Amino acid sequence: MSSGHLTIDLAALAANWRALDAKTACETAAVVKADAYGIGVGPAATALAQAGARRFFVAVAEEGATLRQAIGPGPMIGVFSGHMEGDTALIRDHDLTPMLNTVDQMLRHAEALPGQRFGIQLDSGMNRLGLEPAEWAALREVALSLDPVLIMSHLACADEPEHEMNPKQLRAFVEMTEDCNLPRSLSATGGILLGPDYHFDLARPGVGLYGGQPFAEAQPVVRLDLPVIQQRAVEVGETVGYGNTWTATRPSRIATVAAGYADGILRGLSSKFSLYDGDTPCPAVGRVSMDLITVDITDLEGDPAFLTLFGPQQTVDDIADAVGTIGYEILTSLGARYTRSYTE
Ligand SMILES: *Cc1c(COP(=O)(O)O)cnc(C)c1O
Repeated sequence: MSSGHLTIDLAALAANWRALDAKTACETAAVVKADAYGIGVGPAATALAQAGARRFFVAVAEEGATLRQAIGPGPMIGVFSGHMEGDTALIRDHDLTPMLNTVDQMLRHAEALPGQRFGIQLDSGMNRLGLEPAEWAALREVALSLDPVLIMSHLACADEPEHEMNPKQLRAFVEMTEDCNLPRSLSATGGILLGPDYHFDLARPGVGLYGGQPFAEAQPVVRLDLPVIQQRAVEVGETVGYGNTWTATRPSRIATVAAGYADGILRGLSSKFSLYDGDTPCPAVGRVSMDLITVDITDLEGDPAFLTLFGPQQTVDDIADAVGTIGYEILTSLGARYTRSYTE
């Protein structure tokens, strides 16, 4: 078997949910959009429900339908994109709870599915999703008379605790919602860490559950081992890979491992990262190609059967830092070709 092997630690996932839940006095949901940040929504949501999560959020209604099939009736499934044209049957058949973002969505929802639970998303300054303060002021009374189950907004800079945007959005959210007498939600992972003022009634962590920053105490959830397909000796002056970007300056041993940019190992990482044999880092050399990475294993004693990209020595965020992105992008790029196993 030559595909990479992804091991997903569901016990760590559940522990991260509990650890985030313990940081607030409020209820804690679980955000499982984008196939649970790439780790697999079925097993992830099942483990999170067992840990105690009773509300889940996805980005779009189709994800909500998949999630409902995995977790069964009961838990709330919130849909951040709200109620789009064409979503009505999905929302009804899978009992989804759209977070309505616009006047059009409100009209659509009230007309198509009166009585179906919904929430309202407000824009407190990020200018991405949700009703603007003026729209909300105009609609408020009617909207509240329809009994929304949640009023939510989202922070733009919560991963920077000192950012002035945080208190600014907090004030805007409080101003828009303080006399609504409804459950409120403002914080994702970053907001939970900003402290109790930001918690309201429901927290919505995503990335921290999956072991990512800014939740520094998170346990790692993914491990990725890549099989070595071939190794070879190269002489001083020989080059490795597309474009001859790496030249041996000493007699070297090169291992070729089975994963590449088609598996989410971004090409921009070329020559900027290492794989591990146990505790020993082995630098990736030359360009990352579609299905293969070449690795300098000259300093290893033995011949490794596989090399580890994510494991105890290197996290998803380490790799994200190396290429100038965030753990979220690395996780949600995890390849469909990997064989996956889930441990509990
Ligand atoms: C993605 C998302 C979350 C979860 O964010 P994390 O930073 O991953 O914790 C919460 N709320 C909304 C609206 C989101 O889009």
